[in-house]
Amino acid sequence: MVQIIRGVVPLKEEAAEHSTLPETIAALERLSRNYWWSWSPDGHAVFRDLDQEVWDLCEHNPRRLLKEVPQYSLMRMATDPVYIERVGRVARAFDEYMASGAETWAARQARALTDERPVAYFCAEFGVHHSLPLYSGGLGILAGDHLKSASDLGLPLVAVGLLYHHGYFRQHLRRDGWQEEAYHQINVGDLPMQLVRDGEGEPVRIELFVRGRNVNVQAWRVEVGRVPLYLLDTNVEGNNEIDRLITGHLYGGDRETRCVQEMVLGIGGVRLLRRLEVEPHVFHLNEGHSAFLTLELTRELTEAGVGFDEAAARVRSRCAFTTHTPVAAGHDEFLAALIEKCFGEGYWSALGLSREEFLNLGRAGGGDDEELFGLTPLALRMCRSSNGVSKKHGEVSRELWNKMWPERHVDEVPITSVTNGVHAPTWVSPLLRALFEERVGAGWAEVLHDADAWSRAVARIPEEELWKVRRLQRKRLVAFVRERVYQSRLRQHGPGSYAESALGMFDPDALTIGFARRVAAYKRWGLILTDPERLRRMLLDAERPVQLVFAGKAHPQDQGAKLILQQIAQWKMDPEIMQRAVFIQDYDQEIARQLVQSVDVWMNVPRRPLEASGTSGEKVAINGGLNLSVLDGWWLEGYDGRNGWAVGEEGLSETIEEMDRRDAESLYKALETGVVPAFYERDERGVPRRWVEMTRRAIETLAPAFNSDRMVRDYTLRVYLGE
Ligand SMILES: *Cc1c(COP(=O)(O)O)cnc(C)c1O
Repeated sequence: MVQIIRGVVPLKEEAAEHSTLPETIAALERLSRNYWWSWSPDGHAVFRDLDQEVWDLCEHNPRRLLKEVPQYSLMRMATDPVYIERVGRVARAFDEYMASGAETWAARQARALTDERPVAYFCAEFGVHHSLPLYSGGLGILAGDHLKSASDLGLPLVAVGLLYHHGYFRQHLRRDGWQEEAYHQINVGDLPMQLVRDGEGEPVRIELFVRGRNVNVQAWRVEVGRVPLYLLDTNVEGNNEIDRLITGHLYGGDRETRCVQEMVLGIGGVRLLRRLEVEPHVFHLNEGHSAFLTLELTRELTEAGVGFDEAAARVRSRCAFTTHTPVAAGHDEFLAALIEKCFGEGYWSALGLSREEFLNLGRAGGGDDEELFGLTPLALRMCRSSNGVSKKHGEVSRELWNKMWPERHVDEVPITSVTNGVHAPTWVSPLLRALFEERVGAGWAEVLHDADAWSRAVARIPEEELWKVRRLQRKRLVAFVRERVYQSRLRQHGPGSYAESALGMFDPDALTIGFARRVAAYKRWGLILTDPERLRRMLLDAERPVQLVFAGKAHPQDQGAKLILQQIAQWKMDPEIMQRAVFIQDYDQEIARQLVQSVDVWMNVPRRPLEASGTSGEKVAINGGLNLSVLDGWWLEGYDGRNGWAVGEEGLSETIEEMDRRDAESLYKALETGVVPAFYERDERGVPRRWVEMTRRAIETLAPAFNSDRMVRDYTLRVYLGE
């Protein structure tokens, strides 16, 4: 294990009940404590096969599985030589992985970064695995993928986030299609995390002065391969009841809760790293939520006697910022009075600033008393480098924030871009992974680094084999859809013919289109419904049917988004449509994995240019699915005319209504004249040659460019090691 802590040793939590695991499979205990299992070959299956039913009931959490697996299942597997051998193989691979830090990419290419001087990566959400519900959507999943690639590349990196005791909400649609939310309570004892303790075994506590009171914060450590993820937690005895709830819900509270959460993340995070004696080479603010950390770093210096300007300059030289959205509501802003209440006068005095000077740090314009305090302006001002998450988003961000550098031409605004990518071993289906291992080699994920070598290897995969994998994946998805709908009908309506009929819905051989993402106006969920009759004809075509799978959550406070969802839910209640369209409730990382591995086509139709990057389409591409998407975000860089389809045209200036109408027409046309014919045109062996050629081309051209190893290498060379 990479030991980045000196002086503070994370001790084992209470001796686990599972110390009784039979010796033949005792390694499962060790494997369950590090999320590496979730992206290693056979890691997932080796837990699942211990007891499939309990595995599903535990929502794929191996810590709970080991606790709750019945003794008989345990002993049956512990005496099965084939299973014993599998556990041994996974455990050896894990040990080799953890011991191989010296031979990694970063050990050769990023020597300035060390365990003593690592990257400190701050984010408000982390989507490492769906059993750790500390994410809401794209930002969190991206952060999780970033950690996994950092681990694979051997990059010394320490991550800091918050432990939300109620996580993000679970979605349930009422019979009338209205979204309801429920928050579960997570049980830290069931999760692979350990309380951070000092040399005496006492929990490490740091203190924060927030809203006029002291708040105690403790921290938990989660292992993500070689990377430690620290989660700050205010649910500590002795804290005011309200303060214990600061780390209660992800994006669930009011503005004030959000502000104090961000203080705990930014200020508390810096203080925690100090206690752990970690001296980061660079602080990476992944989105503005953690921007208060720059104030804390400045305060450390001003309290030591450095003047504010000099202190701020030094802080700037060590901080890098990534902005993730051009949508206004995505940038946190607070009323001056709220900032004043949460921080208190003592904080800006310690910086040597007046109230106005302090507030102006978070204002784009400066000087306007009414202007809110924004975390994005603060981060842009206090970081040496800033970037958007696709080339287009970089461009859009330069325009959006030109007001902070009014004397500069828009091209000179200091915001660059690093395009998002996804962690290939996490997202690729086991079946396709096996094909890559066979045809590209065991080190296929590293070959992705070399686009030419990758392309040559993928060109050698026979079309029949690719098509076979794609067909099996679709069948699997149809079985998954049927099972989900069946279970949900059983719960809502009880047993009977209605529930039973779910087991016959959808067609394993029909063109299957996925549409899953947050429900937000700019994502245009309704675009496909613009002409319901035209859509109905497509879905119900007797020769060439199309089926649609939807999933996604609306923000609990976004009534407009909930209405959109209800519209979709009610539309698909039509008895005929119901056979060809489905909404899968409670979208999460596991449902995302099911969909991106198996759909034929991934549809994405955001209003341009509001999709900063988008990553779900990248997950689909790595699996050989085809994107049907508006030319925005990553797709502008990925689309080459032969690896998917483009919806709409780029850069037309027109009204929103015109753009929506035009894009809807373009979407229907692409489906009717491009997608559907290509899918159903078969050769004498039943293979759609043209389709499979596009599939191959997608894997060949998109996988090397849009995976997170490439992204983390870019961050390392251009941002972390840059000046
Ligand atoms: C990948 C992913 C996202 C991001 O989707 P985009 O709409 O492409 O940004 C959101 N939620 C989950 C669960 C994901 O896996």
